[in-house]
Amino acid sequence: MGRRVTAVKAKRSTSALQVGQLHALPGKIIKGEIDVARLPTDTWVSLPVALVNGKYDGRRLVLCAGIHGDEVSGVEIIRQVLSQVDARKLRGSIVAVPIVNIFGFIQQSRYLPDRRDLNRSFPGSPEGSLAARIAYLFMRDVITQAEYLIDLHTGSDHRTNLPQIRADLTDDDVRQAAIAFGAPVMVHARIRDGSLREAATRRGAKVLLYEAGEALRLDQPAIRDGVAGVFQVLKHLDMYEYEKKLPERQPIEIAKSTWLRAGRGGLLRLSKGLGDQVVKGTQIGIISDVFGDSKRSVRAKFDGIIIGLTRNPLVNRGDAVVHLGQL
Ligand SMILES: [Zn+2]
Repeated sequence: MGRRVTAVKAKRSTSALQVGQLHALPGKIIKGEIDVARLPTDTWVSLPVALVNGKYDGRRLVLCAGIHGDEVSGVEIIRQVLSQVDARKLRGSIVAVPIVNIFGFIQQSRYLPDRRDLNRSFPGSPEGSLAARIAYLFMRDVITQAEYLIDLHTGSDHRTNLPQIRADLTDDDVRQAAIAFGAPVMVHARIRDGSLREAATRRGAKVLLYEAGEALRLDQPAIRDGVAGVFQVLKHLDMYEYEKKLPERQPIEIAKSTWLRAGRGGLLRLSKGLGDQVVKGTQIGIISDVFGDSKRSVRAKFDGIIIGLTRNPLVNRGDAVVHLGQL
């Protein structure tokens, strides 16, 4: 009896991958830049872009980070993915843009110089503000080619996030990719107007938003889970076999979450951390005056898991201090 051959041999790709003025032949990785706009000094500012064109036919994945210029963990995730992926073994292609908001990155700021949020400026326009023009160019040159998009983010304003996928979990392709990513939690999140996620979804891309860690920090658990998650999705999309053993984790699904707010101003001392599971009524922290005489507890409003929290102990009454996902 002959051996049954069930595996279908991958088809060799013959097409070059093109983004802006960059192009990569099959089996090659190209790193370059695409021009965006001029600084007031007349200096051109450009986006760093990497093209990984697989040797074989397959899907197109876009990875991007730094839409908020101070969210640097995603930049590091993309660096590590690019250092490990081998284009000669890839089926399909990856377009990676590690710093979309290059102006914010230069200034170590979430925003653009005019305080606009790039992630509220999509799909953009060629005639609008700097934010609108960057969004337009990014959509035209990069996102129109995306079948899948992983958009990498961190917390803002001294807040840190448990590694989590936020996505439209009612879309089955998105849901399966979110499960494959294998972050500790996945959160069904409504789309925000003007976000890249909204604009890319309208263009037909399947979008995962990864939120993990804190702005202006290289958060190691966030980076580790992010790199593993990207490779898990590549495997799920039949694009790549990763040599290292990846953790197999079924994400906890969260349909509803709420921020617990400070009941008074003062100094916050948290007694629980990211990923801790709590039952309704559990004390998560105490806010007190400087002597500790007058206190107010922060308590869980329902049984849940801590998916975000503030790192800044100086709080005003009403500040969001702990993000609790309902279990
Ligand atoms: Zn962000």
